[in-house]
Amino acid sequence: MGSCEKIANCPFFNENMANMPAMAEAFRKDFCNADFKECARYIVDTGLGSDKVPNNLYPNEKERSIKIILEEKPDFKF
Ligand code: SF4
Repeated sequence: MGSCEKIANCPFFNENMANMPAMAEAFRKDFCNADFKECARYIVDTGLGSDKVPNNLYPNEKERSIKIILEEKPDFKF
């Protein structure tokens, strides 16, 4: 499947994971280098733009990402 194109500059790791290297590695393995289209941050970024991705949004919060998009674009088609 490849890797997420945002991996080089994704702020998530600097802002949220700086002191949690093991958890960061787990997210990279499960999302960034695997199922990145399921990443909540990727979903909001591609749906609304990078400026709409909350700093505290975790990759495994897909339901929250859908709510964020639908609040802004109620007709958004996933
Ligand atoms: S998969 Fe998600 S957390 Fe990983 S680089 Fe892409 S947007 Fe960032």
